[in-house]
Parts: sequence; structure tokens; C-alpha cells
Amino acid sequence: MQQPSLKALTAIVDEIARSGNPEAMMSRIVQQLRALLSVDVCSLYLCTPDQQHLILAATEGLASEAVGHARLQLDEGLVGHIASSLSTLNLGDAPTDDRFVFIPETHEMPYHRFLGVPLLHLRKLVGVLVIQGRERVPFSQETEAFMITVASQLAGTLSSLQSRGDWYERKHASTGYRRLKGQKGAPGIGMGTLWPVRPHVSLDQIVEGTCSDPASESQALEDAIQAVADDLESSSSHLDQHLPADVHALFNVYQMMLHSPELHTECCEHINRGDSAAWSLRQTVDRMAEQFQSSEDPYLKARGEDIRNIGQRILNQLLSRDSISRTPPDTDLILAGELISIADLAEFPLQNIHGIVCTRGSTLSHTAIVANALGVPAVMGLENFEPEQHTHAQMIVDGHRGECVLNPPAPLLHEYRRMINEEQRFMQDLERLRDEPAVSRDGFRVCLLTNTGLLADATPGLQRGAEGVGLYRSEIPFMIHDGFPTEQEQYSLYAKVLQAYAPHPVSMRTLDIGGDKQLPYFDISETNPYLGWRGIRFSLDNAQLLITQIRAMLRANAEYGNLKLLVPMVSRIDEIQGFRRHVEKALSTLEREGVRVGMPPIGMMIEVPSAMLLLPRLAPYIDFVSIGSNDLTQYLLAVDRNNPRVASLFDHLHPAVLVALEQIHDQCEALGLPASLCGEMASDPAAVLLLLAMGYDCLSLSAYNIPRIKHLIRSVNRSELKPLLESTRLCQSETDVRALVQPLLEAAARRQAT
Ligand code: PEP
Ligand code: MG
Repeated sequence: MQQPSLKALTAIVDEIARSGNPEAMMSRIVQQLRALLSVDVCSLYLCTPDQQHLILAATEGLASEAVGHARLQLDEGLVGHIASSLSTLNLGDAPTDDRFVFIPETHEMPYHRFLGVPLLHLRKLVGVLVIQGRERVPFSQETEAFMITVASQLAGTLSSLQSRGDWYERKHASTGYRRLKGQKGAPGIGMGTLWPVRPHVSLDQIVEGTCSDPASESQALEDAIQAVADDLESSSSHLDQHLPADVHALFNVYQMMLHSPELHTECCEHINRGDSAAWSLRQTVDRMAEQFQSSEDPYLKARGEDIRNIGQRILNQLLSRDSISRTPPDTDLILAGELISIADLAEFPLQNIHGIVCTRGSTLSHTAIVANALGVPAVMGLENFEPEQHTHAQMIVDGHRGECVLNPPAPLLHEYRRMINEEQRFMQDLERLRDEPAVSRDGFRVCLLTNTGLLADATPGLQRGAEGVGLYRSEIPFMIHDGFPTEQEQYSLYAKVLQAYAPHPVSMRTLDIGGDKQLPYFDISETNPYLGWRGIRFSLDNAQLLITQIRAMLRANAEYGNLKLLVPMVSRIDEIQGFRRHVEKALSTLEREGVRVGMPPIGMMIEVPSAMLLLPRLAPYIDFVSIGSNDLTQYLLAVDRNNPRVASLFDHLHPAVLVALEQIHDQCEALGLPASLCGEMASDPAAVLLLLAMGYDCLSLSAYNIPRIKHLIRSVNRSELKPLLESTRLCQSETDVRALVQPLLEAAARRQAT
């Protein structure tokens, strides 16, 4: 390699650096390098001033529109890997590398060889310099050495530019463009107008505000107070029989506070002076709370917290009234909020929902599960993003990458549109598999069922070739309702689902609320909701609700005969015994009423480790099991499935989960119990290969994912998977497991393509 060229390059850099035009300097660097090395691409990535991300600062060869926009985290993709490991990477075929991530706006797909070097100045990372080419061989040692030298020469000059950050600020101030990283919620790509759902504003955030019409402002406040009073009244009567009298009396304290003349009079005085209702409320509540808190009497002191709680509820009502009065545009929408419930979704026409974004939650939040069922792309846990500030902005939701793009520039929009069309074509291609069985190349037949809970989902399930319903989440209709549905309402709903799938089996799970599945009309506030009143525990404690539900399911089955009952969150033997007794009793009562219906198969979810450990003792009371790998993973690993902070620790390929799944499979086989798996794991291709190897022959997943998984099963030989499973037994982490499975997945993808 010629040293004069390197000298020429540094001379140019020095000259442009003096000229004070950083964009021009960076463009010249990549131009010169590309020409000098005769490569297809040369790109420069710089760290953002906060050292949190790498931004494509200049390129010759990749799409120029991506400059200033393509963004990676410091450990994301190959460039991120170079930044975090501070080492050179020289690859023959970058896109096949595990660490590779495709950045849509760069159009970099045709390039294979890749060489990247870190730019370091005084031990601080400045950025990464990359060259790429179409051939499939690594760059020569000579080129590698040259790049390392160039990087060391350029780092100093680029460092002062990088830390000033004006190149970056300028680019972004004008467009409002932002790339936001979250977690994968539901696969697919959607784009549309951002619409915030139910803004959650805490009372402490309310700042001074005025009003021009005190009469209507007072009325809004009165309406909000009345709505809170009604809510409290209904929660109080639901809990009447379950709470000790002294605890239940708290409801009366709340009601008294809500109706206290002090609260009303003081708020009205503020409003009449021209303050907004929310600001009046905040001032009044602050003063009342302070008064309580300054009391010597511990009882009165504690009331300070209650008045704040009441104030927050009134504020929620005030704000949701506001949000209802805003009509969303009749266009493609991206719904954004803290955690969007199924009831929130029900307020929008389904065909308008093109994406869902939540600032909390993770892959297994209920919102994500519902989005999966609906086939709507979703991204969860998008921290530090305030949807209300971006109402009407354009947004892309990339559920495959767990990423969103706010105000995308035109070329990026174009690229995503192309990807959406490609994906639609791929799914249409897979439709030809609808009536084909999910059978491996060497004849292992897998039954693919669907997870549902929405009637709207019945048709997609059948269209995509589901052989029945492996999990009907009955809580979903309860969540859309504004009170517990009656037996007759439930009966007609269940009958429709059974009818839609008859004669295929439908496993209907009884109510599984608690955790992140809350009913809007039945507040369960617990410090540790995942370890609290959930699933069968709640149902047995509220026997009247359970009996109503069982009766509705049995009555619907009298007509169709394809019902299987499934019990969630079993952790004790007496729970399943108690459930059976309720079913037997309901059957005999129905018989007395003239409804003839046989005992349906009864199954239990394995979600809690104790159910797995007690399988032989539970077996006499059940006919089948269904593994809820979402909760089983959560409880085995002690990782909240809904907490983005520990999301990286939640992986159903954790070696302990794999040990548990093998054990469950082998025990069920020995006990003659049919076993299926219905968690999100059944949609993860890597996991599916291992489940097949273990011997699982029945999986239940969202309708959207059935064609892909069927395609995968049809392209593998189970005999090749068994040695793979054998090797994973020695793995120390989920990362090791994924690395082992990856080559087989790639081989399967190559077979699929041919
Ligand atoms: C599970 O826990 O895996 C499951 C299927 O149930 P849910 O996600 O509804 O809790
Ligand atoms: Mg569960």
C-alpha cells in the first residue's frame, strides 16, 4: 500500500479541518478512501456527543439519505460490535454474521465483505471507519493494516468535531427525525400517523393553567368527581364479600373525601379566579394533603396519601374525558401510550391500527400478545418517549427489530414501504401451504393450533391453516367489556368460537386476570401482582364468576362438542380438584335444567414450577397439559415478563427452561398425557427446532406466525435436530444455545429458498 496516498489523505483532512466545514471534510475522507482502496463503500460512523449511539456521518457507496439518520447503539450490529470491543473486524460475508443488523435506509444488502476499524483518540471512542465490497472474501491483511493506520491518523481531527456535535445537531433540528429503540412486541412493519392513547399525567406534573369558561370547567370537574364516585361504588360492591369490614371501610373514607365540601368549594374558588380545572385540583389536593400530613395523629397523617390517590383518580377522569373528545383522524394510525389495553384498542377501527407503541412493557406484555393476535406490528418499552409531544407525527413501527422511526425522511419511508410490500408478498406465497400438514422432511407431524381471544381472529386463524385453538384467552372479551359479562353474553360468544372451529378442538381457558391483565371495572392493586391474585386462584375465590363461565362454556359445547377446558396458573393439587368439582356440579345442574352435555376434557396450564414438579400427582385429575412458556420462563428465572429493565434476562432458551421443558415432555409421555405448548416460544424458530427435537408434536401460536413456522417445520429433518438438542445440554447460557441453533436455521432458510 502506498504511503504517499496516506500522506495526501491526511493533508486534505488538515486543510478542510481549517476550513471549518465538518460535513465537507467527512465526505472528502470517505471519497478519497474509497478511491484509494478501490472499494464499493466507505463509511464513517461517529459517536453522538452523549456517547450513546453511532450515527452514519458520511458515506460513499451507501444511500446518501441515510447520512445523519442511520443510528446504532454502541453494541448493535457489526459497527456497534467494533465500537464496544474496540477491535477490528474483517469478514467475508457480513450479512450472514449473527451480529449483523440491516439498517433499512442504507440499502446495504448487496455488500458482503466488510472491514471496520475503531477510531480512538486519547482512549476515547470517536467512531468507526468501514469499507465494504460485493465479493465474498475478507479484505487482505495489507488493506487491514492500511485502514488501522488511516484510523489512527484521522482520529485526532475527527475527535474535536465529534465532541462538538454541531454536525449532528444541525441535521436533526430541521427534520425532527428520530430512531427509537425498544423491544420487539409483535412482528411486522407498520406506518402511519401517531395517535396518543390515554395520556397518563401524574398530578405532580400539572402546572399553572388558566381557563376562559369557568362554568364549563367546573362542570368538567364535577363530572370527573362523579365518575370516580361511581367507579369506587362498583369496586366496593365487587369486593364486598372478600374484604374484612375494617378494610372495606376504606371505601367509605374515599367516598367521604370525594364528596367533602372542602374539596369542592376550594376547587371552585380557584376555577372562578380563572385557573384550569386540573390546576385547581392540584392546588387543592396539595394543600389538603399537607394539612393531613402535618397532623400529630398517625391516622390523619396517613390520610394525606389517600387524598393524593383520590386527586389522581379525578385527574385521570378529567384527562380521559379530554382524550375521548379528541377524534382520531380516519387514517392509518400508530397508537402510542404507556401500556395500551385491549379496551383502548377497541375504541379504534381495527383496519386503521397499523402499529402499536408502548412506553412500558415488554415482549410478553398483554398488549404485545393482543397485537400478535391481531397481526399488528408492535414495539414495547420505548423509554424516554412522550407520545403526547408528537401527536400527528409520522411514525414507522418496526416490530421485527423492536424499533420505531419518528418523522422518517422520504427515502426511508420509501424503503420501509418496499419492505412492507415484500413481506406481504412473502405471506401470500406461504398461503399455498394452508392445507398442507406441518410435517418435517423425515415425516414428524406437528399439529399447529392457534392462540386467540378475539372473535375477529377466528377467520385469520382458519385462513392460515390452524387445526384448532390451543389457547382461547377468555379474559380478552372480559377486558373489552365494561362489567363482568353475563352467562348469556358469554354463552353466545363461546358458541360462535366453537362453531367457527368445529369440528376442530378449542381449548378454552378460564379467566386469567391479574399480573398485567387488568379488568377496567375490577381494580386489583397488589405490590407483587405476578405472585398474587391470578388465574385459578382468583376464579376459585370468586366462585360465582367461575361457575357462570363454566356453565356458559358447557352450554355452548352442548351444540358443538369440540370444547376442551383449560385451567390457568395451577400451582396446587387442590386447585385442580376444586375446579373439577365445579365442573361436575355445573354438569349436573345443567342436566336438571334439561341441557344434556358430556364432561369435556380438562387440561391444566403448566406455568408455575410447582405444577411441573407435581405432574405425576396432578395427572389423575387432568386429561392434557398445555405449557405456558411465557409464565413458566418468568417464574423459573424470577424475571418479570413485563419489565424492560430485566428484559434481556428473559429468554425461553435459557438452559434451565430447556431442562424443564424436556422434563415435562418426558413425564407427560410416561403418564400418557398429551402435551402442547402455547407460549410465545412456539413462534420463535430457534425454539421450535429444539421443541421438535424434544418430541413436542403440538404447538399453539398466533395465527400470523403459523405459515412461517409451518414453512420451517417442512424444511427440516428431525433426525438432524436431535444431536443439536444433545449439544445444547452443555450450554451455559441462552446466547450459547442460540449460537448453536443458528447454523441449522440458516440451512433451513437456504432450503426454503430453493
Ligand atoms: C403463558 O404464560 O405462556 C401463556 C400462554 O399465558 P398468558 O401469556 O396469557 O399468561
Ligand atoms: Mg400465562
